[in-house]
Amino acid sequence: MNTFRFSHCPYCRQDRMTFVGVLGYRDRVKFGSLMIELAEAPELFRCNGCGTLMTMNAIPPEEALDLYRRSSSGERWTTEKFGNIADRSTLQALSGALMPGKRVLDIGSGASDFLTFARDRGCRTFAFEPSRESAEIQRERGHEIVASLDGPAAAFDLITLFDVVEHLYDPRAMFASLRRLLAQGGRIAVLTGAPQSLPARFTGAKWWYVQYPEHVCVPTLKALRHLPGLAVIKKVATFAKAGYRLPVREAWSIARNRYRAGEYDGLPSVVSDHQLVFLKEVNA
Ligand SMILES: [Zn+2]
Repeated sequence: MNTFRFSHCPYCRQDRMTFVGVLGYRDRVKFGSLMIELAEAPELFRCNGCGTLMTMNAIPPEEALDLYRRSSSGERWTTEKFGNIADRSTLQALSGALMPGKRVLDIGSGASDFLTFARDRGCRTFAFEPSRESAEIQRERGHEIVASLDGPAAAFDLITLFDVVEHLYDPRAMFASLRRLLAQGGRIAVLTGAPQSLPARFTGAKWWYVQYPEHVCVPTLKALRHLPGLAVIKKVATFAKAGYRLPVREAWSIARNRYRAGEYDGLPSVVSDHQLVFLKEVNA
């Protein structure tokens, strides 16, 4: 039963929010790789404090975790090499952080090629992955599997969350765990949709990025600034992947035609609708 509703914004704690619209998916829909049925119509709300987007009538957290365990992860990064598929602004910003000898932990790594990309640059690579099937794939590829986030503190120089935070019901708890795992001078890199971006603001509940039952809470940059003990040190406006960054003339033409047909969903993007955000630990 998709009856989960956020009582307040999990980032800034604000309990006042604004209804954005009813989300388009309903009935039988894919959750990870599994088909589920939704009884209630999912709705999108925006936090009045920080602008974070929240899905109401979402799958409850415990059921979602069970679905993730039994699911294989998304195909987004699996069919092509990370370096070929990621947007160039994402690659440029990451390249400075992937130095030889650095210990990199990828959260929700799926069957992603990101860790292989990091290892090719001399990093030691670790995966934390709830999907059993995906964890096995990462192990076969030679990456070390981290079974729990309760391990030794200060273990990693870079912790990455690509397409992960929008799945979290309690991001503060996750980031508190990750903060403890950061080595001195370590960084957390978050790649997610940007609710503050023009395409997201313009399309509202029709924004393509909120059309997944797994995407329950998409934080703005302002929301990430609310995380206790962490500070935003860099934000890069980017795209979900390289193919979503089109030449302006072409993107404009497609966007205009879709808008006229009543089908505009923010894709392909005229301007960026994703963000890569780097955080570092700050002493309270
Ligand atoms: Zn908020």
